[in-house]
Amino acid sequence: MQSPETILELQHIYKSFDDFVALDDINIKLDQGKFYSFLGPSGSGKTTVLRIVAGLILADRGKVLFDGQDISKLPAEKRKVNTVFQNYALFPHLNVFDNVAFGLRLKRMPQDELQERVMQALKTIQLNGYEDRMISELSGGQQQRVAIARAIVNEPRLLLLDESLSALDQKLRQQMQYELRSLQQRLGITFLFVTHDQEEALAMSDEIIVMNEGRIQQSGTPVDIYDEPINHFVANFIGESN
Ligand code: ADP
Repeated sequence: MQSPETILELQHIYKSFDDFVALDDINIKLDQGKFYSFLGPSGSGKTTVLRIVAGLILADRGKVLFDGQDISKLPAEKRKVNTVFQNYALFPHLNVFDNVAFGLRLKRMPQDELQERVMQALKTIQLNGYEDRMISELSGGQQQRVAIARAIVNEPRLLLLDESLSALDQKLRQQMQYELRSLQQRLGITFLFVTHDQEEALAMSDEIIVMNEGRIQQSGTPVDIYDEPINHFVANFIGESN
């Protein structure tokens, strides 16, 4: 079997905020088409990595490679990466259609193509028929789906999800975990899903990257990490879910 291709590689990424070292030599390789969880306690640096990958901030040192090309200095809109944030960052005064279409309009896409792309994205996340609804009329789960539709409508190769299920109640959260996972498999794109929830990461991922205090502690399949934690931190952190 052919080995999967690397889509994203981080090489020796460092990032400080004033005197505080937020990321200390981060090295990651992501294969195309897999579901990755980026797992660690609050403040461990997960979001900072995501923001560097998305191009929202620059690393102090190190490289971000996408398809083998150095994109470290490329502006966010030129990267084939999209992000779903924790608060979804939707426009409450716009309807569902316009929220999903927003990024495509910025790209000046022809109207008929835009219409087709938006309707397809809404169908994918099962919100067709909701085009005219205002965001404020939707439930938390529906808002989350709109945020996902807005991200996938750009046909990204890599989707970053930042604690995007943490606002949902337990039942809805489990349903969305299942839906996200099947969406990822259907679309075949790479997901990098940030969470501080061990059970969520273990249940959803092909691979987990465990982080603490700005450093990667361990990466591997859920079974590897669960069965053979590399140090006390990982053992305790993963063990908290038992
Ligand atoms: P996580 O996503 O794992 O909760 P973050 O990446 O958000 O962690 O933050 C890692 C550390 O970097 C935290 O201590 C946070 O306070 C700090 N940090 C993140 N962004 C900034 C910033 N813009 N200015 C100062 N400190 C920051």
